[in-house]
Order: sequence, then structure tokens, then C-alpha cells
Amino acid sequence: MDISIKRRDFLKTATAAGVTALVGDKLGALGQLQAQTKTAVKPVVISSANGLMATAKAMEMIQQGADALDAVIAGVNIVEDDPNDNSVGYAGLPNEEGVVELDSSVMHGPSCRGGAVASIRSIKNPSKVAKMVMDRSDHILIVGEGALKFAKAHGFQEENLLTESSREIWLKWKENLSTEDDWLPPHDIESKDIGEGLKSYLRNHGTINCDAIDLKGNISGVTTTSGLAFKIPGRVGDSPILGAGLYVDNEVGAAGSTGRGEANLLSCSSVMIVEYMRQGKSPEQACLMACERIASHTKERRLLNDQGWPKFNVNFYAISKKGEYGGAAIWSGSRYAINTGEKQSRLIDCAYLFKSEPKPKK
Ligand code: ASP
Repeated sequence: MDISIKRRDFLKTATAAGVTALVGDKLGALGQLQAQTKTAVKPVVISSANGLMATAKAMEMIQQGADALDAVIAGVNIVEDDPNDNSVGYAGLPNEEGVVELDSSVMHGPSCRGGAVASIRSIKNPSKVAKMVMDRSDHILIVGEGALKFAKAHGFQEENLLTESSREIWLKWKENLSTEDDWLPPHDIESKDIGEGLKSYLRNHGTINCDAIDLKGNISGVTTTSGLAFKIPGRVGDSPILGAGLYVDNEVGAAGSTGRGEANLLSCSSVMIVEYMRQGKSPEQACLMACERIASHTKERRLLNDQGWPKFNVNFYAISKKGEYGGAAIWSGSRYAINTGEKQSRLIDCAYLFKSEPKPKK
């Protein structure tokens, strides 16, 4: 993530939730705490910002009586199938060897069940395979070759998930990794020191998390991703790990994440957010508390900026049984998609710990 800090001075203060927080410009997240409390439970669908269509689709199905899990999976399938989305499903950015590997998890609140797949290749809808793991196996998480075999046994079709555009992005990354390997980007005969400098620009994340309450008041969620672009083959992020990238408790609410999975895996934030909500915190407060935990537990110097704040971002999204919803991120600028029954979903700014500013374009 391209971040520079707008304000040098930082405040240490107590959040409305009663914990110590680092907050940025204009008191950052604290100033933004605005839980949306409903008096009666109505259906709600929340997702990461790439889920405008997904949340609208899920809400449409819920209003027709669908179970929340079927609805959110149908919603994220739109993003998994989208050739223009390089972060999820088909057209996802590949691992360092140019092979697309996908992660996904689902949780079904009313039956207290879950399923997940990780590092699955050649299947564009890992969310559907995750649900199949939940419905048709005695396991919770199946990975790699085993996940592909399981999917094929259930009739999923193998296909090439690498589009021309994803391959070109991967090749550009590979050719610009180092001046000391044998891969060269396009260049002319006068070029010197070619092959370096695009790493951070191209190394992006992306995922969709989508959670919903249906007409019966039941809660479910799904998270699906191609994970970190150009990862080491076999790397698994937070998305398929129940408790980290997704957690649902039908009596309390649901939470999910996008962003640097390595940081979230060390905190298991989604289960923590649900537990904070169980203790009475609003979804937004609970998401912020998870961000604070990650910020305070990031000790490795390579991951911290000069102020000692994480260089990376993690975003959380949550809904409560009462129909409240909210999102928070370590850095400002993130948004989430919400649908409370409208034809079109809308985007809302996430609360945040630190104010970021995009670096000026070169
Ligand atoms: N959380 C995902 C992962 O670490 C990636 C992302 O959301 O950007 O695999």
C-alpha cells in the first residue's frame, strides 16, 4: 500500500470502547465512530468495497427468502467470475510461478458449521467448493491437490484461471524483480540497470468478504481471494482460516477481513471481533479494536514506518445480530459496501487508526 503520513504528531487516547488506541488526524476513527443501530432486525448485507454488485445480489436473494449463506456465495460468485477483478477467482493474480491459487471459507450461522479450501488451483469458484466441504465432508479445511480432487469429485470443472491480462501483470513483475537475474523487461539497446523498481507498485492484495443477515435473522459469511499476488506457491493467507478471515456466530454476528493476511493470522481478528460484539461493542468499535491489536502487536521493524506504525493495511467488516454494521481499517481510505434492502448498494468509509495520504504520482 502506498502510504505517507499526513501528520507527524500522534495522540494516544482512549477509544469509546475503553481501550488505548493510536489515532490520527482529527482523532481518526474515534471521530468517526457511528454505529448504525436498528430497532428491529432487518436483513443486512456487508462486504469489502469491491462488493457493490455482490451485496445487491445477496440482498435480492434474501428478500426472496434465500438463506444468508446461499445469498452471500451467489454474491461473491459475481466477483470470482469477473475477468476484470485481479484479486479473486478467475483472473486472480498468480503465485510467483504464474499459477493462480485460491483460498476461501464459509460459515453458516444457524447450523454452526463451516468449510474452507486453500491453495486450490483451476477452480474459479472456491467459495462453492468451501461450501461443499462444509456440506459433503467431515472436514473443515482441505488444501491444494486434495481440494482440487475433492472439487472434481463433486463435478467442478477445471479451467485455466490465468487471463492474458493477469499473465502480463505477472510477467511484468517477474521481469522487474531484479537486475541480477536473466529475465528482462522490454528495453532498448541503450538501457542500463533495467529490471528493477516495480515491486511495490505491482504487489497488491485483494479479496472479497461478504456477510449477511437473512429474513429469519440468521447470519452467514464468506471470504474468497486469490491471496497475495506473486506469493510463494502454497502460501495461505487469512481468508480460508475460520477465526481469522471470517467468523460467524448466529447469536452474535459476523466479521471478515481483507488486507495483509499474515498480520491477521497472528491475531485471529474475526473471532475476536465477534467476541467484542458479544461483550457489547458495536461492529465498528469491535473492528477498530482488532486494528489496534494488530498495530500494537506488529514488532518487526521491516513492517513498521518511521513512526512505528504498520506499513501495511488490514480491513475488517462486521454485522451484529441486532442489524448494526460497521468497518474499520488500520489506514484511512478504505470503504465497505452495504445493502439494507435497497436496489443498489452503497459505499461507506471505514473507521481507521491512522490517516494516510496517497503518495504524489511521479
Ligand atoms: N487477506 C488476503 C490474504 O492475505 C489478501 C487480501 O485481502 O488482500 O490472502
